Amino acid sequence: MTTSLLADLGIRPLINANATLTRLGGSLMPSEVVDAMRDASHHWVDLAELQRAVGARLASMTRNEGALVSTGAAAGLTLAAAALMTGDDPSLIARLPDGGGFARNEFIVHKSHRNGYDHSIRSAGGKIVEIGSALQTHEWELTSAINPHTAGIFWFQGAMTGIGDLPFSTVVDIARDHQIPVVVDAAAQLPPVENLWRFTRAGAALAIFSGGKDLRGPQTTGLCVGNAKLIETMRLNGSPNHSVGRGLKVGKEELGGLLAAVDRYLKLDHAARSIECEAVVAHWNRELCRIPGLQAERSFPNEAGQPLPRSHVTFDASISAQSIVTKLMAGDPAVSVAFGRNNDIYLNPMTLENHEDEIVLNQLVLTLTKP
Ligand SMILES: *Cc1c(COP(=O)(O)O)cnc(C)c1O
Repeated sequence: MTTSLLADLGIRPLINANATLTRLGGSLMPSEVVDAMRDASHHWVDLAELQRAVGARLASMTRNEGALVSTGAAAGLTLAAAALMTGDDPSLIARLPDGGGFARNEFIVHKSHRNGYDHSIRSAGGKIVEIGSALQTHEWELTSAINPHTAGIFWFQGAMTGIGDLPFSTVVDIARDHQIPVVVDAAAQLPPVENLWRFTRAGAALAIFSGGKDLRGPQTTGLCVGNAKLIETMRLNGSPNHSVGRGLKVGKEELGGLLAAVDRYLKLDHAARSIECEAVVAHWNRELCRIPGLQAERSFPNEAGQPLPRSHVTFDASISAQSIVTKLMAGDPAVSVAFGRNNDIYLNPMTLENHEDEIVLNQLVLTLTKP
C-alpha cells in the first residue's frame, strides 16, 4: 500500500518505537521476504506437497526434527492442541472442536501463564487445567494435575513466565516421566536466534514462534518446530484438510515468505544488531537526560525477555506519561511508544528503520518542550 493510498483511506502511517505488536502491523517485511511471496504467487503447486517440503527445509535450518508453517503462533497453539487430542485418528479429527468425551482433552497451564491465548487452546476443543497460584507453583500440583485425560502441558515463555513458576526443566522432567508432551509458546522469543532449537533440545515436543514479529516474515505466519510425528498430526488437523484448522489457511505465498524470513534471520549479524540497538538507547538517554523533569536509563532485557535494550523514561509528577503517549501518537509523524505503570514510557529501538531513532527523539523532545 502506497503512502498516498493510506492517506486516501484516512490512515496515518506511524513510527513504531513500541514493540512487534500485531495491532501496529506486527513487523515490516524485508525485500527478500516480499520477493519470495511474489515469486510464490506466480505458480500453481500441490499445496500439501509444498507445505511438507517447506516444513522439511525449515526443520533442517532450525535443527529440529519437524517443522510446520501456521497462520501465526496463535494458530500454531490451536493446531498443537487439536493434534494432541486427536492423534492420527480420523474420527476424532472430524469431531473437533467437540472434544467432550475424548480420552485426552485436558491441557495443563500454570495459573501465572494464563493469557489471551487461552482461546487458541479452547477453540480446538481443549480444556485448560490450571496449576499453582499467581505467585507460586509446587511440583505436586503438576503431578497431581496429570491424569489419564491429560493431552499436554502448555508453557508460555516470556512476559508471563513468573518467578514462582516451576523451572522449565522440572516441568519437562515430570512430563517425560508421565509421557506427556510439553508445548512452548515462544511466539516472541526471538532474538536470541538460538531459541529456534533451545526449547526443543531442552525436551519440549514443540516450540511455536510468531513469523510476523522479529522474524519479519509475513504477518500471518507462525513457525512450529519439534517432534516430527506431532507436526504430521498438526498437518492432519490443518488446512487444506477439512478439520478444525481448515480456516487457519496458509497460502503458498506465506510458505515462501516465511522460508525466506527464517533464512535471512539465521544469516543476520545479531551481535552487530545488538550493538546498534545499544548505541541508539545510549544516545536517546544522553539527550533526554538534558531535559528537566525526567530520568532516562537503559532497561534490559525488553518486555518479552529478548536480549535487547530499551530506553526507560520516567517523568516527574509534573508531567503525565499518559499525555506524552497520546501527544506522540497525535504528532506528525505519529510515534507509538510503550506506556509503563509508573508514570513512565519505554522506547524500543528494535522495530525502527534507518534514522527513525532521530525522529523518535525529536518528536519526544518536541512534545516535552512545546507548551
Ligand atoms: C504474539 C504472541 C502470540 C501470537 O502470535 P501471532 O503470530 O500473532 O499469532 C502468542 N503468544 C505470545 C506469548 C505472543 O507474544
